[in-house]
Amino acid sequence: MTDVIIIGGGPAGSAMGCYLSKMGIKNLILEKEMHPRAHVGESMVTSTTRIFEEIGFLPFMEKAGFPKKYGASWHEPGGKEFYINFDEFQQPGINQPYTYHVDRSKLDLHLLKHAQELGSEVVQGVNVQKVLFNDAQQAVGVQVKFAGQLIDIPAKMVVDASGRGTVLGRQLNIKQSDPIFNQYAVHAWFKNVQRSQNDHTKDFIHIYFLPVKRGWAWQIPITDEITSVGIVVEREVFRTFKGNFEEYFNHYVKSNLGLSDALKDAVRVNEFKTEGDYSYSQKSFVGDGYVMIGDAARFVDPIFSSGVSIALYSAKYASEVIKTAFEKNDFSKEILMPYQETLKSGADIWYEFIRLYYKLLPLFTHFIQSKKYRVQILRLLQGEVFNRGEVEVLEAMRNYIQKVEKMENHIFHNQLSNIPIDEIPETILAQD
Ligand SMILES: Cc1cc2nc3c(=O)[nH]c(=O)nc-3n(C[C@H](O)[C@H](O)[C@H](O)COP(=O)(O)OP(=O)(O)OC[C@H]3O[C@@H](n4cnc5c(N)ncnc54)[C@H](O)[C@@H]3O)c2cc1C
Repeated sequence: MTDVIIIGGGPAGSAMGCYLSKMGIKNLILEKEMHPRAHVGESMVTSTTRIFEEIGFLPFMEKAGFPKKYGASWHEPGGKEFYINFDEFQQPGINQPYTYHVDRSKLDLHLLKHAQELGSEVVQGVNVQKVLFNDAQQAVGVQVKFAGQLIDIPAKMVVDASGRGTVLGRQLNIKQSDPIFNQYAVHAWFKNVQRSQNDHTKDFIHIYFLPVKRGWAWQIPITDEITSVGIVVEREVFRTFKGNFEEYFNHYVKSNLGLSDALKDAVRVNEFKTEGDYSYSQKSFVGDGYVMIGDAARFVDPIFSSGVSIALYSAKYASEVIKTAFEKNDFSKEILMPYQETLKSGADIWYEFIRLYYKLLPLFTHFIQSKKYRVQILRLLQGEVFNRGEVEVLEAMRNYIQKVEKMENHIFHNQLSNIPIDEIPETILAQD
């Protein structure tokens, strides 16, 4: 019998496999698709480098030919650009001033292979139907569907890394939609994108503000020729648009001068894809005999490219409590709980940053230009959200918003959105 079954071979599941094998814990990764498979989420934040190094995957990242990402750039609808360089903030334990933009089909394939090389058993094309529980409500394995047959596979522990498939969250009925965010993305790959007027920011991620409710667009280099472009808006905005995908996409491209310049000679090379049903949290990320990691646990809006970083760090922190569970031969929720607290506090910081960002868009550009707060903003944008207490810059942003709310003649007053910022809504807090 294997020690741990991991449902899903995305970045979270593969990183978990790597960590467990390094700890000498036998693990089996069950993946529904056959890699390579396409996936949204192509731009990394620099904190991922630390994990790639720890699991011995950095040499692959260096050799793979992925475009290097040295910074991030934001564009107002009228064309004004603001950018940051990652070398402005030196992250402890990270020895390179860049991260990567990736073709996820290639990244995920090789990360899964890497897990296999380190010792994970990997079976692809297997759909996990449900997690099996004993009479004491402890997870004791999974049921899979393979070649039309239902088969039970026992294990001492189960890790749900099924991404937005959220196998356990759905089974236990503990998935809570975010009460504020309900975004919708339409995206595709293009050739001939003019990546930047400014040579320095050519290989950066470019984020374009769109003059519509919570609207923005991403521009991410995938190879020298291919660029990924996505339009994100509030789902309601998409639903009420009259027209096909092409018309919808072009409508919003035209609404930002920088984006329409970048795409003026662009040729689409694949079909439009859509992503919805994101921004949620499970009520709890752990239980007797199981943990949930990556998107299977929680998803925050992707505006700051945080998803893969959260997936990798959640694997790291969850593997630490799994190690303790095996040492003590105790797989109870109590033993696993420290992981939940770590993930929750890190993801809450991302969430809060995103919420304040959407509350008042000009606030973000104001703060990244501030001498006092620029480096603190960079620290967040580079994914340093775990094991922190109060984050001073978030407090300062909140205070600033409250000031703008009170001053009706403030130049930003009309740009306040109706997002509540007083406290994090209860429904997105993981509870015991
Ligand atoms: C619009 C949008 C834009 C984004 N942009 C970015 C970005 O720029 N940067 C970034 O870092 N993140 C981004 N993300 C987030 C990123 O896509 C995810 O956070 C990341 O993929 C999470 O990794 P994961 O391993 O948890 O899940 P996944 O990568 O989804 O992997 C889960 C795996 O589980 C498998 N699986 C599912 N169900 C089952 C089952 N029943 N049995 C077996 N296997 C199963 C799936 O096939 C999949 O391979 C974006 C997300 C969205 C929606």
